[in-house]
Amino acid sequence: MGVNKKTFAKEVSVNTAEQTLTIIWGDGHQTVFPLEGLRKSCPCAVCAGGHENMGKPIDPDIFKKPPTQTWTITNLEEMGNYAVQIYWGDGHNTGIYQWESLRSMCPCDICQPE
Ligand SMILES: [Zn+2]
Ligand SMILES: [Zn+2]
Repeated sequence: MGVNKKTFAKEVSVNTAEQTLTIIWGDGHQTVFPLEGLRKSCPCAVCAGGHENMGKPIDPDIFKKPPTQTWTITNLEEMGNYAVQIYWGDGHNTGIYQWESLRSMCPCDICQPE
Protein backbone atom coordinates (compact mmCIF):
# COMPACT_ATOMS: atom_id res chain seq x y z
CA MET A 1 0.00 0.00 0.00
CA GLY A 2 1.36 3.38 -0.98
CA VAL A 3 0.74 6.73 0.62
CA ASN A 4 -2.80 8.03 0.25
CA LYS A 5 -2.12 11.21 -1.71
CA LYS A 6 -5.45 12.70 -0.67
CA THR A 7 -4.53 12.76 3.00
CA PHE A 8 -0.80 13.31 2.59
CA ALA A 9 0.21 16.87 3.40
CA LYS A 10 2.91 17.89 0.98
CA GLU A 11 3.25 21.41 2.27
CA VAL A 12 1.90 23.23 5.31
CA SER A 13 2.29 26.95 5.82
CA VAL A 14 0.95 29.49 8.28
CA ASN A 15 0.28 33.09 7.33
CA THR A 16 -0.32 35.08 10.50
CA ALA A 17 -1.09 38.31 8.63
CA GLU A 18 -3.83 36.55 6.67
CA GLN A 19 -4.81 34.42 9.69
CA THR A 20 -4.69 31.25 7.64
CA LEU A 21 -3.06 27.84 7.61
CA THR A 22 -2.67 26.41 4.13
CA ILE A 23 -2.17 22.74 3.31
CA ILE A 24 -1.18 21.51 -0.12
CA TRP A 25 -2.14 17.86 -0.41
CA GLY A 26 -0.42 15.08 -2.29
CA ASP A 27 -3.16 15.09 -4.93
CA GLY A 28 -2.60 18.83 -5.57
CA HIS A 29 -5.70 20.02 -3.70
CA GLN A 30 -5.23 23.11 -1.56
CA THR A 31 -6.98 23.76 1.74
CA VAL A 32 -7.00 27.16 3.41
CA PHE A 33 -8.13 27.12 7.03
CA PRO A 34 -8.93 30.33 8.88
CA LEU A 35 -6.93 30.05 12.12
CA GLU A 36 -9.80 30.80 14.47
CA GLY A 37 -11.96 27.98 13.10
CA LEU A 38 -9.00 25.65 13.31
CA ARG A 39 -8.35 26.62 16.92
CA LYS A 40 -12.01 26.16 17.77
CA SER A 41 -12.11 22.74 16.16
CA CYS A 42 -9.18 21.55 18.26
CA PRO A 43 -9.73 17.80 18.63
CA CYS A 44 -8.29 17.40 22.14
CA ALA A 45 -10.47 16.10 24.98
CA VAL A 46 -10.63 19.48 26.74
CA CYS A 47 -11.78 21.43 23.69
CA ALA A 48 -14.09 18.67 22.44
CA GLY A 49 -15.79 18.65 25.84
CA GLY A 50 -14.74 15.21 27.07
CA HIS A 51 -13.27 12.01 25.71
CA GLU A 52 -16.66 10.78 24.52
CA ASN A 53 -16.85 13.73 22.11
CA MET A 54 -13.43 13.19 20.59
CA GLY A 55 -13.33 12.20 16.94
CA LYS A 56 -16.69 13.73 16.15
CA PRO A 57 -16.81 15.40 12.75
CA ILE A 58 -16.42 19.18 12.75
CA ASP A 59 -19.05 21.34 11.11
CA PRO A 60 -17.15 23.22 8.37
CA ASP A 61 -19.46 26.20 8.95
CA ILE A 62 -17.10 27.06 11.80
CA PHE A 63 -14.72 28.42 9.15
CA LYS A 64 -17.29 30.87 7.82
CA LYS A 65 -17.63 32.80 11.08
CA PRO A 66 -15.80 36.12 11.27
CA PRO A 67 -12.77 35.96 13.59
CA THR A 68 -13.07 37.51 17.02
CA GLN A 69 -9.34 37.84 17.67
CA THR A 70 -5.90 37.32 16.19
CA TRP A 71 -4.41 33.83 16.48
CA THR A 72 -0.83 32.69 16.19
CA ILE A 73 0.80 29.32 15.72
CA THR A 74 4.23 28.94 17.27
CA ASN A 75 5.06 25.43 16.09
CA LEU A 76 3.79 22.57 13.97
CA GLU A 77 4.98 19.10 14.81
CA GLU A 78 4.20 16.25 12.46
CA MET A 79 3.27 13.01 14.19
CA GLY A 80 4.46 10.30 11.87
CA ASN A 81 2.46 10.67 8.69
CA TYR A 82 -1.00 10.62 10.19
CA ALA A 83 -1.35 13.82 12.16
CA VAL A 84 0.06 17.19 13.13
CA GLN A 85 0.28 18.73 16.59
CA ILE A 86 -0.40 22.46 16.58
CA TYR A 87 1.21 24.73 19.16
CA TRP A 88 -0.98 27.82 19.52
CA GLY A 89 0.22 31.20 20.66
CA ASP A 90 -2.24 31.04 23.56
CA GLY A 91 -0.20 28.17 25.00
CA HIS A 92 -2.58 25.40 23.97
CA ASN A 93 -0.77 22.46 22.35
CA THR A 94 -2.65 19.27 23.15
CA GLY A 95 -4.57 19.22 19.88
CA ILE A 96 -3.41 16.52 17.51
CA TYR A 97 -5.10 17.07 14.17
CA GLN A 98 -5.27 14.03 11.92
CA TRP A 99 -4.55 14.76 8.27
CA GLU A 100 -7.58 12.71 7.32
CA SER A 101 -9.95 14.81 9.41
CA LEU A 102 -8.29 18.04 8.25
CA ARG A 103 -8.91 16.98 4.68
CA SER A 104 -12.54 16.17 5.43
CA MET A 105 -12.94 19.59 7.11
CA CYS A 106 -11.64 21.46 4.05
CA PRO A 107 -13.98 24.46 3.76
CA CYS A 108 -13.52 25.03 0.01
CA ASP A 109 -16.46 25.01 -2.39
CA ILE A 110 -15.37 21.76 -3.98
CA CYS A 111 -15.25 19.85 -0.70
CA GLN A 112 -18.29 21.52 0.86
CA PRO A 113 -20.77 22.29 -1.92
CA GLU A 114 -23.21 25.08 -0.98
ZN1 LIG B 1 -7.71 21.56 22.56
ZN1 LIG C 1 -11.25 21.42 -0.50
